This record gives sequence, structure tokens and C-alpha cells, in this order.
Amino acid sequence: MGDSTSRSRDLDKLLLRPGNLVGPSFEPGPELRDDLGEYARVLVVGAGGLGCELLKDLALSGFKNLDVIDMDRIEVTNLNRQFLFRLEDVGKPKSEVAAKRVMERVSGVNIVPHFCRIEDKELDFYSDFNIIVLGLDSIEARSYINAVACSFLEYDGDDNPKEETMKPMVDGGTEGFQGHARVILPGLTPCFECTIWLFPPQVKFPLCTLAETPRTAAHCIEYAHLIKWDEVHRGKAFDPDDPEHMQWIYREADKRAKLFGIPGVTYSLTQGVVKNIIPAIASTNAIISAACALETLKIASGCSKTLSNYLTYNGVEGVHIEATEFMRDKDCLVCGPGVLFEIDTTVTLQKFIEILKEHPKLLLSKASVTHRGKNLYMQAPPVLEEMTRSNLSMPLFDLMGKISRDTIHVAGMSSINNMKASSMMKLRVGFKGVGEGVADMDMAVGA
Ligand SMILES: [Zn+2]
Repeated sequence: MGDSTSRSRDLDKLLLRPGNLVGPSFEPGPELRDDLGEYARVLVVGAGGLGCELLKDLALSGFKNLDVIDMDRIEVTNLNRQFLFRLEDVGKPKSEVAAKRVMERVSGVNIVPHFCRIEDKELDFYSDFNIIVLGLDSIEARSYINAVACSFLEYDGDDNPKEETMKPMVDGGTEGFQGHARVILPGLTPCFECTIWLFPPQVKFPLCTLAETPRTAAHCIEYAHLIKWDEVHRGKAFDPDDPEHMQWIYREADKRAKLFGIPGVTYSLTQGVVKNIIPAIASTNAIISAACALETLKIASGCSKTLSNYLTYNGVEGVHIEATEFMRDKDCLVCGPGVLFEIDTTVTLQKFIEILKEHPKLLLSKASVTHRGKNLYMQAPPVLEEMTRSNLSMPLFDLMGKISRDTIHVAGMSSINNMKASSMMKLRVGFKGVGEGVADMDMAVGA
């Protein structure tokens, strides 16, 4: 008793007392603290630099039921900042070691590790969590989890989001001395896709600059990497993991830098530029994780208003922290009510899948289609594909139970903005000439 009381002492100040800044549903008291520990289920996506911090912070914030998912194994180069890992852990799955270490240190917390790709889990897995916290470093993975969380969102007849179907997300990200923390309440605040423009395309140097007017050490390195290598090696592919190749690039870059009087070409900078390595800084992870854990606690307990809705941290020159309120994209394909398709009752599922591929806003190939949790057609695994193949020749109208309009979920490969990525979205399908009526369930096609 003594131990657990002292651990929750600070938390109690937030959860046991009323306040002026609390959310509308906040009911202070020991029950709230106990319920938070007992019932709140939080998924942490990623067990790297940010994920390690998040697991520790959430466990120390009173959450007792955590899951963590990560597909990577521990590498030596992780050890400087992914502080839950030791030298003897190298080669082991990050999720498993991270879960074990936090459980050893914080009594009463249960962390379930999942060593797999985020795409390997069924939607049901994600729907079980109250809050999803993201500690990722890739845009594609964020996009995917965002689409999953938004797919649970339902809209009522007036296109207002149903609050009970909202799956809150807290997203953190760091890059060197900079980072962000954001709260995504699908349907209320912008989802990841609403503000995808926040992630600019990767800066590439124009080739003419590299070839003619290099001004920085990086220009000289990219010249050696992108131009000189091919000139000299003719068809032999450059392997960034081959130290001899890297040495060659370094020597060429150094020669060129001397020619133009440019300082600063080193072997480690050469590696950094060629492999596009952005230095990871432990303190930035700690700051961003703290913000994310606090927002998670606020969403779960209502003990204070949540961040609205995007915090940026910049420690490059001095320290700047700022919160910006971004707006939703009303036409967002992911968190909105869904693109409306008005089709004839005769359109087969096969034809519909082709329409998705050609639709300029979707460009969705290899689509799998589900309706109210029922698989109408699945591209994979083979056994499901075979089971659902016969549906392809049937009219979608029949497969959806002959109702006038409804929401369906599709998953596939999207190539919007020339970026190929697995994608999941909600669509509304309406059938021409079918009145708004109650579905005749007797006519529903079972499977
Ligand atoms: Zn959106």
C-alpha cells in the first residue's frame, strides 16, 4: 500500500480534485484513478527511441494495461538512446525487451509485446484499445495506423461523427533537435491525412548544382554518390552497407571538396548523407514523449483540456515550443464520411473494384472490400481469396443486402501523390433508383 500510494501521489493531485481546466466529463475521485489503471487499454506503436520513452512514461502515469507493437530487432546503434536495451539484448525483438524491462521496474503494470508488422494485425486488434499512441519514424506507418483508427469512425445521417466510435490517437515524432506531438480525435480534429502536406517531400539537390556549383560538403558527397560512382563503375550497383564502397565515395567527395575549397567532408558525414541518416537525440525523444504521455492521460481521464491540436518543439537555436490549431480537411478521404459512389444495382463487385482503380481521388488497386464486418472480397491470404472469389461476379447491391446506401471499407494499394502505400478507406455506396427504405433483411445475402 505504502509503495503504490507514494507512486500515485502526484497523479492523485490531478485525478482526485476538481479543477477549472478539466474536461466536461471529468469526475474526480479514487475510482477514476483505479478505473484508469484497470480498464484503460493503450497501444504504443513503435518501440524505438520514442517508444521506449512512451512505455516508461505511460506506465509511470498510472496506465496498467499497455500493448506495444514493433517489427524491429535491437541493434548496437540503438543503445545510446533506446535506454531500455542493453548490449546483451542486441538481436532480440525490441517490443519484447522493452515490455519486459518496464514491467521489471514498474510494479503492477502489464505490457503485452507484439513482434510483427503493423499490417499483420487484424482490425479487431486495434479496435480493442481506447487510445493509440504512435512513436514512429515513417510517414507510411503513420498513414496506415491513422487509416485503421479512422476506419472505426461512423457518421450519423446528418454526417456528424458518432463520438462513441472515435478512436483517439496521440502521435509523436522527432528528428534531431526538433519534434512534434499531436492529438488526433478522428472526426473532430484533423487526422494525419488531413495535414499530410506538413511532411514536405525529401529535399534532393538539383543535379546541376552537384555537377557545376557545389557549395556544401553534402553537395560534394552527393556528387560522388550520384554522378561519379556511375561514371567510374558503369553498371555496378552502389551498396551503402559495403564499407569499401563508402570509402570510395568519401575519397571522391574529399577530392572534390578540396577542388572547390569546401571544408567539412568527413567519413561519418559521408555515411550520414548517403544513407540519409538523421541524428537521433535522446532528450528530444524524452520531451516529445512526455507531451504525448500527458495528452494520453488527459484524453483517458478528462483531467484537463487536450492539446489543440499540434505541438511543435524546436531546439535547433534556443528552445521554441508552439501549439497550432490545424483545421480538418472536410473532403478528407480517411476521416470524412467517405467518397460517395452512386452506382447501378447491376454493377458487380469485380466492376466496382475496377472503378476504385480508376477513380482519380482514390487510385486504389488490388482492393479488398468489406461491408459491416463481412468480407465481400479479400485479395489475401489465398484461402480467403478463394472463399470470396465467387462474389466478384455478383452485383454489389445484392452483396450489401439490397439496401439503398451504406458504408463499406476498402483496403488496397493507393498511389496518391505518386506515393505507393497500403491504404484503407471508407466509402459510401448509394444505388441509383433505390428509395431510402428500411433494408429488407430477408433478402440479405449471407456468406
Ligand atoms: Zn482526415
